[in-house]
Amino acid sequence: MAVFNHISFDEHEQVVFCQDKESGLRAIVAVHNTNLGPAVGGCRMWNYESDDEALNDVLRLSRGMTYKNALAGLEMGGGKSVIIADPKTQDREALFRAFGRCIDGLGGKYYSAEDVGVSTADIMIAHEETPYMAGLEGKSGDPSPFTALGTYLGIKAAVKHQRGIDSLKGLKISVQGVGHVGYYLCRHLHQEGAELIVTDINQSSLDRVATEFGATVVAPQDIYHQDVDIYAPCALGATINDTTIPLLKATIVAGCANNQLAEARHGEKLKELGVLYAPDYVINAGGIINVSFEKDYDATLATQKVEEIYNTLTRIFVQADKQDRTTSSVADDLARAIIEAAK
Ligand code: NAD
Repeated sequence: MAVFNHISFDEHEQVVFCQDKESGLRAIVAVHNTNLGPAVGGCRMWNYESDDEALNDVLRLSRGMTYKNALAGLEMGGGKSVIIADPKTQDREALFRAFGRCIDGLGGKYYSAEDVGVSTADIMIAHEETPYMAGLEGKSGDPSPFTALGTYLGIKAAVKHQRGIDSLKGLKISVQGVGHVGYYLCRHLHQEGAELIVTDINQSSLDRVATEFGATVVAPQDIYHQDVDIYAPCALGATINDTTIPLLKATIVAGCANNQLAEARHGEKLKELGVLYAPDYVINAGGIINVSFEKDYDATLATQKVEEIYNTLTRIFVQADKQDRTTSSVADDLARAIIEAAK
């Protein structure tokens, strides 16, 4: 397994492999860039099929955090961590204590928080071993409602840009993944009168959105070809790929999942087909924006900052049209300029 020559290495400052035999912890921490401040990004717990799959995921996610934090105007660098384990594992105390000690060893260069498979309660356990945890109970807490708010506003910005309308009423929106963020997103969309088509691999999550928001449930493999206006990927990454793009009927792709494009060229493909893509790390920055207010937490100030996502995305859409470029490459350039300027 190559590390320095890894396809996703992208000049990472530091990559740390942590093992703790007693608890069974196997984790990788990736610090991509700290020009803007200490790296901040969540911890994902997943049943990766190989170490290489885990490494690729953490490298891609941590690079995304650098760009996300920069474009959100935060004084934070980018990093991420993954724990290689079944996210449903019950014995979490020892595991997250060991994870906390692993993060402590980085001496504050990286702060972790919750992500897929990890709860705020897990982070609280890790926090007993290290101060370098964010998204704590009683402080900024669960970032998901803020990520959902930013994603909802991002969807509105995309609709306004493409169709000139301010309301989502009557629009059909497919949501892939109705977990922490997907649930709150569905609530916003339903409250504005959108028609929801949802999928998940967790039946109880589906039942909840079907009952509360009248969402139509489809099988996971059927989500792509739904006759909808907007496709919102809110599960895992790389769902925009060679197989799924030809199936899409939506003219807007805007959701909270990280790393939605399997490869950068898939952004080109969406553009060719006239599909407006809201770059993932811009639209899903709400949670990390909320975490950035952790120190003297103020929900009103955090919400105001999350609301800026609407204008940031609009600026990217307008510039992409003007320069006849993909929205993802415009976002990358804007983020790189901020990161370079902070060197
Ligand atoms: P979550 O684990 O609570 O929800 C993900 C949902 O996707 C789960 O309900 C899961 O069952 C479902 N899922 C998994 N595989 C699926 C498949 N093949 N088809 C359909 N559904 C599937 O996670 P979350 O916190 O809601 O995050 C969702 C996405 O948003 C992730 O990509 C995450 O990295 C990203 N994100 C989350 C936050 C946050 O604040 N939680 C912030 C930024 C980005």
